[in-house]
Amino acid sequence: MATYKIGLLPGDGIGPDVIAEAVKVLDVVERKFGHQFEYSEDIVGGAAIDRYRNALRPSTLAMCKKQDAILFGAVGGPKWDDPRAKVRPEQAILGLRKGLGLFANIRPVKMYPFLANSTALKRDVVKDVDMVVLRELTGGIYFGKPQKRWKDKQGRKAVDTLQYSEKEMERIIRLGFDIARGRRKKLTSVDKANILDTSRLWREIATEVAMDYPDVELEHILVDACAMHLIRRPADFDVIVTENLFGDILTDEASMLAGSMGMLPSASLGKRRADGTGPGMYEPIHGSAPDIAGQGIASPVAMILSAAMMLRLSLGLEDEAVAIENAVAKILRAGHRPADIALKGKRPVKTARLGTLIAKAI
Ligand code: NAD
Repeated sequence: MATYKIGLLPGDGIGPDVIAEAVKVLDVVERKFGHQFEYSEDIVGGAAIDRYRNALRPSTLAMCKKQDAILFGAVGGPKWDDPRAKVRPEQAILGLRKGLGLFANIRPVKMYPFLANSTALKRDVVKDVDMVVLRELTGGIYFGKPQKRWKDKQGRKAVDTLQYSEKEMERIIRLGFDIARGRRKKLTSVDKANILDTSRLWREIATEVAMDYPDVELEHILVDACAMHLIRRPADFDVIVTENLFGDILTDEASMLAGSMGMLPSASLGKRRADGTGPGMYEPIHGSAPDIAGQGIASPVAMILSAAMMLRLSLGLEDEAVAIENAVAKILRAGHRPADIALKGKRPVKTARLGTLIAKAI
């Protein structure tokens, strides 16, 4: 029997509720497919600040480094929102990404046909949406130096620095091609090459890497045009790859194409092994939802689908991942919906009940 080590970091707000449902589903996968999942759990984010005055303790990071994969709930909430605070819940996420070398954030955005009426956009526009958005995570303007504020005779000033190395660009673009190769074989590289030098280098490298993938079509789009095309013709996209800041904005925009924040999983990946697997952190794209925390009504779907991504991308368990995804689709199609995508006139299914229904459907 194969044993896999999984780190659990539930975090704050609805994080613990939704992670419990992912574990419930994994328990069934374990039994049905004959694996053993060994869990190590720790607190991060606001909960860790309250207890240890540190959002991510070194011992937590050390524990995570020993795991095959990490499931992460969400962190943050009004209690820790003071912008002047030196210790903040998000430091847990940034610390984990950096400490685990997770450079690629992957967000699949897929519209389940039976949910196409639940989005803010027209059914015809979104009904065939099935894309993956890849965002570079460890470089760009979020990390470049100098990054500071100062004051002179003209008043207050601030600077951030957008910097990328060739290596940082190449590894994420290559991953984009690899993912596109396993899908509809189209990669859209997003930049701002008409203005930015980093973008011109990005485009150059994407074009060079494309030589190794003659079977994948590469298109270049400026980020502003991409923002527009995502709403106008979202079904045309297969895989999108872009740098950190552009990706941060476009992934949130793309998430609206699938109906609800409660639906979308994500993976943050580091270096891959030859078989395509490797360590990673898996989390829903939503936050800790303090407005509904403690009420037992959060959707566990994004977290459960994140567990499926973990099985596929870190543990190499494709059949098991598909079994979870099929179970989610089956239960939602049958009309068992959480509050955020509830059917008119039908009572929403609570968090724990929905987890149980999905687990039983595997
Ligand atoms: P949010 O994603 O927590 O919530 C936005 C809205 O979506 C809320 O109305 C919420 O009730 C709803 N929602 C979110 N997840 C849901 C689910 N699973 N089921 C049903 N409804 C759901 O974003 P926010 O309100 O901007 O942020 C709240 C806190 O979360 C903040 O402290 C923020 O910093 C933090 N945050 C954390 C992460 C993370 O840990 N990765 C990501 C984003 C925001």
